[in-house]
Amino acid sequence: MQADLQDLEALLEIQKIDLDTIQATKKRVELPQRIEVMRLRKKRGEIQGKLDQVHELQKKADAEMTIVEDEDRSLAEKQERAQQLIDASGSDYRKVESHSREMAGVMKRRETLAEKRVEVQAQLDKIKGVRDQLEGAIAASEAKEASLRAAFEGEDSALAEQIRANTARRDELMASIAPELARTYKKTAEKTGGVAIGKLDGETCGVCRTHIEGGHLISLRAQAPIGTCPVCKRLLVIE
Ligand SMILES: [Zn+2]
Repeated sequence: MQADLQDLEALLEIQKIDLDTIQATKKRVELPQRIEVMRLRKKRGEIQGKLDQVHELQKKADAEMTIVEDEDRSLAEKQERAQQLIDASGSDYRKVESHSREMAGVMKRRETLAEKRVEVQAQLDKIKGVRDQLEGAIAASEAKEASLRAAFEGEDSALAEQIRANTARRDELMASIAPELARTYKKTAEKTGGVAIGKLDGETCGVCRTHIEGGHLISLRAQAPIGTCPVCKRLLVIE
């Protein structure tokens, strides 16, 4: 095939650029940050599920506390009324005794409620501890994702820029070589995917490493400066 030294150099550079572009494209897809972000989100979903359960527990405990407090408030009023009645009973021994009994009952119930209140408060404190821990874990995970995304976007746009620069340089090189040669390279690259051109290394294809024998070698050499490997069909520069 017709080609001058400049064409051959251009083709070899295009080959290098194409391989670099293939690698950069693959790297973009497989950026580790992308995978890590997915993992963080999954884990965060699990933590959020636990947090939802904790919120339910807290609602129940809050409601229980409200019931205890409401009852205690109404008992406190009752106690005060009983005290007023005792004060107003003067020397009426029977009245004093009856209101005192009522007051003793109220006070006993309030003691029970005070114990209950301590119990529910301990439960609420425990719930708050767990909630703080889970909320902290979610915040830390979100911060980690933000920093990963920043790193990811930086790396991703650097790769995109690399691919853009490769494409520009490739177009320039393609335009500089003979159109027929450019077409042949393009077709070969589509068929072989990746490496489309190599060098004939003595009697061996520089890409598939097949030793080329007798007649094939003679006809390959006749195609100099550029021919096609009879085995892998890649272009070979023949020096
Ligand atoms: Zn070959």
